[in-house]
Amino acid sequence: MNICIVGTGYVGLVSGVCFAEIGNRVICVDVIEEKIKKLNNGIMTIYEKGLEELCNKNREAGRIEFTTNLEYGVKNSDVIFIAVGTPSRADGQADLSYVGKVAKGIGIYMNGYKVIVNKSTVPVGTQKWVNQIIIENQSKKYGFDVVSNPEFVREGNAVFDMMNPDRIVIGTDSDRATSIMKELYKPYNVPIVITNPESAEMIKYTANAFLAVKITFMNEIANVCERVGADISEVAKGIGFDARIGDKFLNAGIGYGGGCLPKDAKAIAKIGEQVGYDFKIMKSTIEANYLQKLRPIKKLKTAMPVIKGKTIGILGLAFKPNTDDVREAPSIAIISEIQKMGGKVKAYDPAAMVFAKTLMEDVVFVSNAYEATVGVDAVILVTEWKEFKELNLKKMKELMKGNIFIDGRNVFDYKTMASLGFEYYCIGCKDAAYYSNMVDEEGGTLQK
Ligand code: NAD
Repeated sequence: MNICIVGTGYVGLVSGVCFAEIGNRVICVDVIEEKIKKLNNGIMTIYEKGLEELCNKNREAGRIEFTTNLEYGVKNSDVIFIAVGTPSRADGQADLSYVGKVAKGIGIYMNGYKVIVNKSTVPVGTQKWVNQIIIENQSKKYGFDVVSNPEFVREGNAVFDMMNPDRIVIGTDSDRATSIMKELYKPYNVPIVITNPESAEMIKYTANAFLAVKITFMNEIANVCERVGADISEVAKGIGFDARIGDKFLNAGIGYGGGCLPKDAKAIAKIGEQVGYDFKIMKSTIEANYLQKLRPIKKLKTAMPVIKGKTIGILGLAFKPNTDDVREAPSIAIISEIQKMGGKVKAYDPAAMVFAKTLMEDVVFVSNAYEATVGVDAVILVTEWKEFKELNLKKMKELMKGNIFIDGRNVFDYKTMASLGFEYYCIGCKDAAYYSNMVDEEGGTLQK
């Protein structure tokens, strides 16, 4: 099939490459010339495991090409995907201006029947809105169908997820578009949920909202665990055997981030408001997640009441491992808070430094994890990269000036860390505060 993907970011690039890999001819379009130039030269613009190899293999085989020319993409394709960003507006609503612009261009350039597929995460009603924009901008009244086909890939596992989806959701009322979409997704051999556009749009927000609530729920349980002497990893294990709950996504930490969950949680809360529904659980989730990002700061202040003049080493900047994405990452809130209190920051991330440098000021970015710990008073582990799990802790301890280690992702355990001389803090488990009967920064009793 001839496919055009408009928007060559995380979703657009990975889906384009994967559609090419299963035998389609793909044209990826983006407005950023520099991005297109790099991709045409085999240089990846995002970090995703396996992407570079797969992309260049398909580019060299002539199955995928990159361009800034939307007209070329539209005219030479049967199915056109919209995969541009839908960031949060100041009021929490999804900003649909990029989607609208692309829809207009598709209307202008179409030269025959097309299936226009909305892969961006968009509020309910967007399929109808895109349909209308295309009608209003068509130079000739060609037939077309607009389909909602939300994407569920996880950054950090995007290539694997795209090639091995749990399910495909297709929202359309058109039989013609349904059969084209089914044909396109046939090689995946996975369940296909065919529904109306409104339900498809709602499925995507529901999935992300549910995940945001699940993460936040476990984080809040972890905060309670600290006060009652329970261990969150044991609690998670204990509930995970219950088939109604499941054992995935139960790890406590310092909050969700990235380009999707934060904006989608805000958007669904806003959708509720717009239809006259007070979506209490989403509003609380958004607030609790914000506070959770600052949890390491509370622990730092408990361990080291004066931060002014101290240097803190930050391990990990990406919002999760195996990605270079720093959007809404806990690292941003943590670093900004340290700086507000007069502390200095040294930071390292295996993949996210380039992106982080565009968002953070006055941070000393270093070239490896050990360097981030040289002479520092405390270390905060923000992202659970595999290479951090394999650190030589003894060496790290010797490099540090102080001995405070705040483990935002529960990678290590108290016994090991204490035996090496660290004052070790974690999320929802027995740490230095628990063993020394400390009263934490919030005045909570950490019972023994
Ligand atoms: P992104 O910011 O990485 O990529 C968007 C791309 O669109 C950018 O390269 C931008 O230059 C390009 N663009 C903007 N306007 C354009 C235009 N008029 N013509 C051509 N290109 C244009 O965003 P993303 O993370 O890929 O997300 C895209 C959508 O997919 C969002 O709605 C997001 O919520 C959704 N989504 C993202 C993920 C994820 O893991 N990132 C997963 C599922 C769904």
